[in-house]
Amino acid sequence: MAKRTQPTCSFCGRPMKNIFAGQGNDVFICDECIEAGHALVAAMPKEKRTAEGDLSLDTLPTPQAIKDFLDQYVIGQDEAKRFLSVAVYNHYKRVLQEISNDDVEIEKSNILLVGSTGTGKTLLARSIAKMLKVPFAIGDATALTQAGYVGEDVESLLVRLLQDADYDVAKAQRGIVFIDEIDKIARKTENPSITRDVSGEGVQQSLLKMLEGSIVNVPPQGGRKHPEQELIHVDTKNILFICGGAFDGIERKISQRMNAQTVGFAAQQEASRIDKNNLLQYIAPQDLKSYGLIPEIIGRLPVLTYLRPLDKEALRNILTEPKNALTKQYQKLLAMDNVTLIFDDEALDYIVDKALEYKLGARGLRGLMEAVMMDLMFELPSQKQPNNALKTFTVTKEYARKKLERVDLGRLKNAV
Ligand code: ADP
Repeated sequence: MAKRTQPTCSFCGRPMKNIFAGQGNDVFICDECIEAGHALVAAMPKEKRTAEGDLSLDTLPTPQAIKDFLDQYVIGQDEAKRFLSVAVYNHYKRVLQEISNDDVEIEKSNILLVGSTGTGKTLLARSIAKMLKVPFAIGDATALTQAGYVGEDVESLLVRLLQDADYDVAKAQRGIVFIDEIDKIARKTENPSITRDVSGEGVQQSLLKMLEGSIVNVPPQGGRKHPEQELIHVDTKNILFICGGAFDGIERKISQRMNAQTVGFAAQQEASRIDKNNLLQYIAPQDLKSYGLIPEIIGRLPVLTYLRPLDKEALRNILTEPKNALTKQYQKLLAMDNVTLIFDDEALDYIVDKALEYKLGARGLRGLMEAVMMDLMFELPSQKQPNNALKTFTVTKEYARKKLERVDLGRLKNAV
């Protein structure tokens, strides 16, 4: 008969009474080794304890560093970048802080970005998640409906976040969720309606719980909850929510409020200094309330900032300046076919003029560039030079004009 031997600790080799088995029952550790290991980890500097890429207080970038990073990808929008950088910095300081004994509790700083579509709201949120290497999910508030109605539940946003975090719940709980078109769930009048407003207020109420921090039960595969499905509990306390919306027509609310405030001579002088062409810069929480967001939601989005419409110079810079600017992308693609691609300044000015003329905005620049580049990208790869010698092609204004004349630019607008 085989003799039963007492298991020995796989670390110190001693047979012990209090011994713990690993998975498969073939590795053991004794209580003394656990204690020694704990002491070692506790003595280690904190940054060494976090896995590479994980955020820690020592590696958290400063607001200036965050803004510098954003500058590489997003043109202009300085005000929004500064607000975002500070809010994100404070948010992660709050998340990463050691548990302290004082009573000062740092509140969550979810963010609301107000600005026309295509001005860079999503790009800003995405770039921040990229910099911090945290999970990121995008959702559209218009797709959301109150639980129980046809459409997506608000939990679907967290499903996407979990997926981006490879189902690492702890990681997802420190992620960023961007909710676009939050203005579309504003209720139609400022006064609460007696009848339930399914598309508006009900969704705002469901979002509210998530924004303020609660445990949300998420079906792992998304979709509807089934009674037999095991749900994942996601705590939204440390998830940063960035909301965006165009809030079309909110300028009227801003101007009404400002007019109401400007009574008396000093106030009139003040009023003359108001930049009426960009009223969005004066946006205040009351305006959001007048627009139909419920006060509780406004309260949960304490960082409020705006994005400017993109002017000609901004659109022109978008083509060439960002790290992954469109012109750089085409140059990189064609460099793989040994073609040096050059864009004449006038050609780029011409493309921007067309974007402005047809009101295509930054999003339309891609369609315009595609239309200009299509034939080249088809033809150049098969015109390889002998010995793979380099070839140069210059996109001139004339060339861009010829290509764009063949395209129905009105059609591009529908694609934006
Ligand atoms: P929004 O979320 O405000 O509707 P996006 O961030 O989705 O707009 O912008 C659409 C596209 O337009 C981006 O992917 C980007 O290519 C370009 N874009 C918009 N604004 C900017 C900007 N300020 N700087 C650089 N690119 C921009």
